[in-house]
Amino acid sequence: MSRQSIQLNEQVYNYLLSVSLREPQILKECRDDTANHPMARMQIAPEQGQFISFLIKLLNVKKALEVGVFTGYSSLAIAMSLPKDGHLDACDNDAEVTRVAQKYWNKAKVSKKISLHIGFAIETLDKLLKENQDNTYDFAFIDAHKPEYIDYYERVLRLIRPGGLIMVDNVLWSGSPADKNIQDEDTVAIRNFNEQIKNDDRVMISMLPVADGITLILKN
Ligand code: CA
Repeated sequence: MSRQSIQLNEQVYNYLLSVSLREPQILKECRDDTANHPMARMQIAPEQGQFISFLIKLLNVKKALEVGVFTGYSSLAIAMSLPKDGHLDACDNDAEVTRVAQKYWNKAKVSKKISLHIGFAIETLDKLLKENQDNTYDFAFIDAHKPEYIDYYERVLRLIRPGGLIMVDNVLWSGSPADKNIQDEDTVAIRNFNEQIKNDDRVMISMLPVADGITLILKN
């Protein structure tokens, strides 16, 4: 038996999806719609969306936060799993791409649960802090501009309640943080972020090789 996580070749990955993915039709539509977008690789994997939905239910999340909306796949997965009186604050600086997201929020009848904040996420998070919303969020998903990960994280950590969960996406960034020869801005940012979180005693962590790598961060 191997001590390592299994390598997912295409056959095994397709098998994983075939025996576990229960993707609602509306999420599939959103994913198919995004497949032709030039930045389609920014969309999360469907099994990751299902994992987010699972966590929302498991943790009884009522108040959620998302940094980086793109075409709305993850926000849709979150909002559809929130209770009727649940709420998601969704941050993105791209008014055009989030119009696609809004289309699917409307279609899925979850728009009422979502506040879209267009602008720089750091400013939006600072605004939420100024409104005394610190220690109130149950769940947050960070998946936006990689060089700002640590700045998002510090703010999100204040907004999350003790015992709340933060999921950070792309922490393995196609494997490049592991290769010291790769020094582009995004890779360095993710490498530094991972090292800082490793030593952050305010939280518990678990990094999972799901999709492009995710870190689950539980606030003490
Ligand atoms: Ca991502």
